Amino acid sequence: MSENKAATAGASLLPTYARYPLTLVKGEGSWLWDDTGKRYLDFMSGIAVTNLGHAPARIKEALVQQLDQLWHVSNLFHIPNQADAAKLLTDNSCGDAVFFCNSGAEANEAAIKLARRYQQLVQNNGRYEIITFEQSFHGRTLATLTATGQAKVKEGFAPLPEGFTYIPYNDFAALEGAVSDKTAAIMLEMVQAEGGIRPVDQIYIRQVAELCKREGILLIVDEIQTGIGRTGKLFAYEHFGIEPDIFTLAKGLGSGFPVGAMVAKEELREGFSAGSHGSTFGGTPIATAVVKATLETIVGDSLSARAAAQGEYLMSQLREKLAGSSFVKEVRGLGLLVGIECAGPVADVITAAQERGLLVITAGPNIVRLLPNLLVTNEEIDEAVSILVELLNAR
Ligand SMILES: *Cc1c(COP(=O)(O)O)cnc(C)c1O
Repeated sequence: MSENKAATAGASLLPTYARYPLTLVKGEGSWLWDDTGKRYLDFMSGIAVTNLGHAPARIKEALVQQLDQLWHVSNLFHIPNQADAAKLLTDNSCGDAVFFCNSGAEANEAAIKLARRYQQLVQNNGRYEIITFEQSFHGRTLATLTATGQAKVKEGFAPLPEGFTYIPYNDFAALEGAVSDKTAAIMLEMVQAEGGIRPVDQIYIRQVAELCKREGILLIVDEIQTGIGRTGKLFAYEHFGIEPDIFTLAKGLGSGFPVGAMVAKEELREGFSAGSHGSTFGGTPIATAVVKATLETIVGDSLSARAAAQGEYLMSQLREKLAGSSFVKEVRGLGLLVGIECAGPVADVITAAQERGLLVITAGPNIVRLLPNLLVTNEEIDEAVSILVELLNAR
């Protein structure tokens, strides 16, 4: 390899990712271009991040305006954008108080810390255990990979933090059996995304919420992939008639700018005090200018409702046109978080789609995951569906 080739292939990077042989250099709306000028229809949105498409004008304007003003000062000072962004989150959710951080794992880490500290220092009950679910995904820090219900993310990282228990998803008897006087919180996704696009059961989640209330257990909902309009509501918990005590955000929150947040109910406020948690970059003027513009756009333009409608269209088209396939087992999802479960591995479908100019990803070995942006048009959906139908019906 020439020196230049080695640099573009990332020879100086740690091998933490299996990368496709594609270098994307430009994006606009639902479209991406690679370094040879080839165009791709983006139905993965950087894994549910660019919910407003690539380079959305209104967000860029807010970002550029803030870049001219002030980049960083530290949380030792008041940051007006941060207060405004927090108010937008609490005005549009069941939450009352927000902590900003920089990623999903950090948001979940904050949720785990707040749940334990609230139980131990406010309720004085010594509770520490967090119940999570098989096939869940909560992040890559030591606490959040421990919370994650998948063995492969934990391999080689022992010893792991104590106080996590895993149970099957959508199984209330298993939950009742796992709860004890040490249970601080139950943490789950409303649709297990990395775990295979598996929605939580309506009746089950209500039973879980009731049990939490009755037993003084905190309900933490990980909305990192499902939040910010993706599932057809601003937050996925809204579909289920429940209110979490804490929910976490990242991915779509910054339209591609790295930012995370934990949102908690009023009672939880005293779980943290000055100095008990923090982050140098959490909620900088730049990050929260982007969060403000993102939330104003999604709420102001009713993009959650649009995601619901476009998700319905996408799923109905897929179901209709894949009805005769013996390879496709099920098309399911919520809003624009969609999975096509197949009878065998789909890795080659992903790469064949790339060759045809369509970017999609997997959610486990047998599931094609579709995550278009919330502004995706019917024509773009038709184009993606026709490529996928052709590839899947040939199997
Ligand atoms: C992506 C994701 C995370 C981790 O977020 P990072 O920003 O990669 O740390 C946690 N939970 C869920 C549900 C996710 O989809």
